[in-house]
Amino acid sequence: MAGAENDEMTCQELVELVTDYLEGAIPAPERARLEAHLAECPHCEDYIAQVRQTIRAIGELPLEPVSGQRQQQLLDAFRGWRRAGSIGP
Ligand SMILES: [Zn+2]
Repeated sequence: MAGAENDEMTCQELVELVTDYLEGAIPAPERARLEAHLAECPHCEDYIAQVRQTIRAIGELPLEPVSGQRQQQLLDAFRGWRRAGSIGP
């Protein structure tokens, strides 16, 4: 597990890890990468906020939060965001 700490996390990775993250079920190095990505990516920050709201609304994590199709929709949305606004330098 060594050597991965400095890899930049992608939006796709974040989406895949978000429920584990909110459950506190990911290892510290992964969490650090995720939080580093969050600090730079307002869209993922927004996404996590939405997932948190969903959890609050239904009282628990959805069992299958991101199906293949749903995940594709999210990734399309991320791509749309990136096209729509210029983020960063
Ligand atoms: Zn992101």
